[in-house]
Amino acid sequence: MTLKALIFDVDGTLAETEEIHRRAFNETFSDFGLDWLWDRDLYKELLHVTGGKERMRYFIEANSLPDRDRAFGLIAEIHAAKTSRYTSLIHAGAARLRPGVRELVLEAKTEGMKLAIATTTSLPNVEALIQVNWGTCPGDIFDVIAAGDEVPNKKPAPDVYLLALARLGLEPSCCIAFEDSENGLKSALNAGLDTIVTVSGYSRDQDFSGALVILPDLEKTVFSQLDGMRGN
Ligand SMILES: [Mg+2]
Repeated sequence: MTLKALIFDVDGTLAETEEIHRRAFNETFSDFGLDWLWDRDLYKELLHVTGGKERMRYFIEANSLPDRDRAFGLIAEIHAAKTSRYTSLIHAGAARLRPGVRELVLEAKTEGMKLAIATTTSLPNVEALIQVNWGTCPGDIFDVIAAGDEVPNKKPAPDVYLLALARLGLEPSCCIAFEDSENGLKSALNAGLDTIVTVSGYSRDQDFSGALVILPDLEKTVFSQLDGMRGN
């Protein structure tokens, strides 16, 4: 079917944001008097759990922490504080778009494509990243944003992509998804979407079976190539 929309993941796909998330988590833990430190190796493991609140819950359950009960009760509060800290870092310019993203988005828009976001990250995080990097309201760039807790089941479940498709009013067969992680790829595939993977810093060793194509980034990807990648 004719290509009508591109749907993007955010973290690791639009920008390499995971180190900024990790920093925001660690600084927030410290603010709450929690003696937790998520180093790179641990964070790489924790990224298999999608969603910040879910990641903290997993971390608390997996470790016999002395302040475990208090920590469980604080998850929502910590997450809200972490989101605030993260968006401050993004507004300060901590994350730039990955190579080729700005150009492809502009080209697709010019060609009349619909553009959408399907992410497990919280809406304020998405809005901050778009606002800073495009210098305009998120709605000026993306027709649809499906984010965070809007769906019951996070990636690799297809829910957030199905929500984006419903808001677009389009079938998966006329869309392409862009992802950087195995969980994200599974989510998009489970929603019936052809998916292009751009490998990111934390996803290098992951399994991308089923991807349309696996690329280092979108630097050399132009809009006119996309249909060819779908085999049309
Ligand atoms: Mg991602």
